[in-house]
Amino acid sequence: ADTSAKFYKNYQERLEQLKLIREENERTKAAYEIKSQFLSTVSHELRTPLTSIKASIDLVNAGVLGEVPETLKPPLAIAAKNGQRLANLIDDLLDLQKMEAGEMDFHFEAMSVNSLVKEAVEATAGYAEKLGIHVTTIIPATDVMMNGDHDRLIQVMNNLLSNALKFSDEGGSVQVRLESNGNRVRISVEDEGVGIPADARERVFGKFSQVDSSDIRKVGGTGLGLNISKQIVERHKGTIDYESEQGVGSTFFVEFDQVQQEDTGETGSDP
Ligand code: ADP
Repeated sequence: ADTSAKFYKNYQERLEQLKLIREENERTKAAYEIKSQFLSTVSHELRTPLTSIKASIDLVNAGVLGEVPETLKPPLAIAAKNGQRLANLIDDLLDLQKMEAGEMDFHFEAMSVNSLVKEAVEATAGYAEKLGIHVTTIIPATDVMMNGDHDRLIQVMNNLLSNALKFSDEGGSVQVRLESNGNRVRISVEDEGVGIPADARERVFGKFSQVDSSDIRKVGGTGLGLNISKQIVERHKGTIDYESEQGVGSTFFVEFDQVQQEDTGETGSDP
């Protein structure tokens, strides 16, 4: 009788512990949902006034309201640039929140990776030129096809390209390469920039993670781009990774399953 009383007491204690753990889990989940909702609301609320601030600045800059005095041009340029930075940050926050809530819609379709790469390179050509960086593209002559969400993949390419550009020195070069072995497609973006120290590997794909978070950091960013890119790539059942050497440069690459031209009848299906 003694052992069974002891057993019963242990059992009661375990049950009590489990109840506490379950309550704690529920509180964590509720807190997570509040955080997520808060982030989403704040981002949306910030976006509307920011859009109107940016539009007003653009209107003044365009000279529609009269010629802009030379002395006002530098502060207006700063306002426009930082307005854009804030808009990028808000977009990233909204994307992240949507992705984590499973609310980001993906529209898969068969598409040419060649065209995707060309489009992404063209979209960043102006930025590259401004920074004095030479971009070369190496693409096979025949179309390589994959199933993917065009806009989301452009977002990934933009992230990789703009990182390669902003972490390069003026006069540097960036090489974008598309390769296929018949089964897998590989896009790589190689730069000769600052590189990433080996001990930063854990942080690169994290949230709000910037390898150089010091105040003397030259280039702006949110530290969200690669986290979002990784989530997009993974939704495509693809992989993203990099090789880098500090002071020599970095190569970021993404890989996906290739689809054969004749399989592309299943347009719209998930990969
Ligand atoms: P962001 O560029 O907005 O800071 P990302 O998530 O795109 O954020 O990148 C995270 C960090 O990884 C960057 O802040 C930078 O430290 C490092 N990084 C990414 N791409 C490169 C690159 N091509 N060369 C050097 N460092 C890079």
